[in-house]
Amino acid sequence: MAVKNEIKEALGSIIAGKILYDEPMSRHTSFNVGGNAGALVLIKSEDQLVGVVRKLREKKIKFLPAGNLTNIIVRDGGYRGAILLMTGMKEIRYEYTPGGGDFISAQAGAALAKVVSRSATDELTGIEFCAGIPGSVGGAVWMNAGAYGKEIKDVIKAVFLLDAAGGKKTMNREEISFGYRKTEFPPDTIILGAQFKLEKGERVKIKKKISEILQWRQKKHPLEFPNAGSIFKNLPMQAAGELIEEMGMKGMNVGDAQISPKHANFIVNRGKATASDVLELIALIQSKAEKEKGVILEPEVVIVGEN
Ligand SMILES: Cc1cc2nc3c(=O)[nH]c(=O)nc-3n(C[C@H](O)[C@H](O)[C@H](O)COP(=O)(O)OP(=O)(O)OC[C@H]3O[C@@H](n4cnc5c(N)ncnc54)[C@H](O)[C@@H]3O)c2cc1C
Repeated sequence: MAVKNEIKEALGSIIAGKILYDEPMSRHTSFNVGGNAGALVLIKSEDQLVGVVRKLREKKIKFLPAGNLTNIIVRDGGYRGAILLMTGMKEIRYEYTPGGGDFISAQAGAALAKVVSRSATDELTGIEFCAGIPGSVGGAVWMNAGAYGKEIKDVIKAVFLLDAAGGKKTMNREEISFGYRKTEFPPDTIILGAQFKLEKGERVKIKKKISEILQWRQKKHPLEFPNAGSIFKNLPMQAAGELIEEMGMKGMNVGDAQISPKHANFIVNRGKATASDVLELIALIQSKAEKEKGVILEPEVVIVGEN
């Protein structure tokens, strides 16, 4: 049976109308590239997510939890399973515990940008470094997103999860192993939300910091074209963008995928790029880096799907 029909049979009755079958991911990824997902499921609530995941696991249908799709490349052959977007799980709330301090809790589908602006409203400092990162809370925790020398792990107090057996669980920061642009959770973990520990601050100062970061990003990053942020992880001693620039590759293209002339660690979609164009360009950069510089450039973007 075609994947689309398998998913229809498994989920059709529980979330009618909120499933896009055979959906081109180029319509949804920040890169505007990617083949079709068997289904793109727009999840309304945590309870619905639990039900959907249970059904998919029962029927052994492959699925991928995702957020804002700002760090994912789906190959042109598509994803033969369901991609779950936490569209309706966007709640953000302030919490205070005597002796514990000030926190913001947010569901996985909440935009990181909204958490940042909420921190300014609530006069809480610590998460300004996330300004301009276009992902969701779930994606940011999964990737241990970071900027300006800070990472999500620095502000995490706890992560709320759905485990492989379908049970809800809380993991405190100390129990989680965070790495460079990755977080190690037990297999098949889905992030439901996170609690961030912040400090009291002054609204004016927090807002100023956020707006400085946003201006800096506007100046340095090629935000005028679809992209997925940094393509490669930085090397221990050198920024990946600097290395690519040193190799004279700025501006190079495969089809409409181009190494941004503005920032060499960004590949931009100049119009009609395909995932294959982007992946070919990635492979070209990697092979040149290995031959000429003796280094392995590891993608920061998550690559899924079939060739
Ligand atoms: C213009 C631009 C600038 C960027 N700048 C930065 C930056 O400064 N720093 C940085 O770190 N990143 C940056 N990024 C990359 C990206 O925004 C971050 O990695 C972000 O955290 C990804 O969030 P997302 O919701 O889009 O995740 P997605 O792209 O949807 O998913 C990324 C990964 O997380 C997993 N995932 C997502 N949600 C869940 C969940 N609920 N449960 C389990 N797994 C989940 C997915 O399966 C996938 O493996 C940038 C991207 C762009 C386009």
